[in-house]
Amino acid sequence: MMKIHYNVDLYQVTRGLMADKNFWKNISFNEFSPQQWESICDGCGRCCLIKLQDEETDQICTTNVACRYLDLENNHCTKYLERTTLVPSCVKLTPENLSEQFYYMPQSCSYRLLYETGDLPEWHPLKSGSHSQMNEMGISIQYLAVSEATIEDEEQLFDHIIDCEEFDDE
Ligand code: SF4
Repeated sequence: MMKIHYNVDLYQVTRGLMADKNFWKNISFNEFSPQQWESICDGCGRCCLIKLQDEETDQICTTNVACRYLDLENNHCTKYLERTTLVPSCVKLTPENLSEQFYYMPQSCSYRLLYETGDLPEWHPLKSGSHSQMNEMGISIQYLAVSEATIEDEEQLFDHIIDCEEFDDE
C-alpha cells in the first residue's frame, strides 16, 4: 500500500464574496478571483484525510486519520502557506489542474460538484450562510476524524479505513 497524504485549499469567505451573489454560476473558473476560487472550498476537510492506495489494483481507501497539520476544531490547515513543502503530496487545486485531481477528491467536494453540476449544493456555506448544516449532515469531518499525530505506526492506518473505491480516471 502507498500512503497518500492529501490536503488542498481550505475554505475562506469574506463579506465581499457573499455580496457577489451566485458568482460561481455567472463566470467560468478561469475568471474567478483568488478569493472567489478559495471560497468554493466548503472546508469539509475530507481531502485532508489520509488515503491508502493499493499499488497493484490502484484501489484507493480513505481513512478517518487527518493530516497532522489540520486543526480538527475548525478544519483549517495550521501550515497553510507551507503545506506543499511540508507535505509534498499535498496538492494545491487550481482551475487548471482540477479535473486531473478528481480521482483523489471526495464525491462531496464542492469544487467537484460545481465542475460536474454547474452549481453548489444547498448546504454549501456560500448558500446556507454557515458550516452548521454540512456539519450536521456529516459532510465535514467534524465528528469523524482523528489526527495523524495520534497514530504511532503506519500499520494502524489500516484499522482506520472508512471507505474504499476503485480507481477511475475516465
Ligand atoms: S474536499 Fe474539496 S471542499 Fe472539502 S476541504 Fe477539500 S478542497 Fe475543500
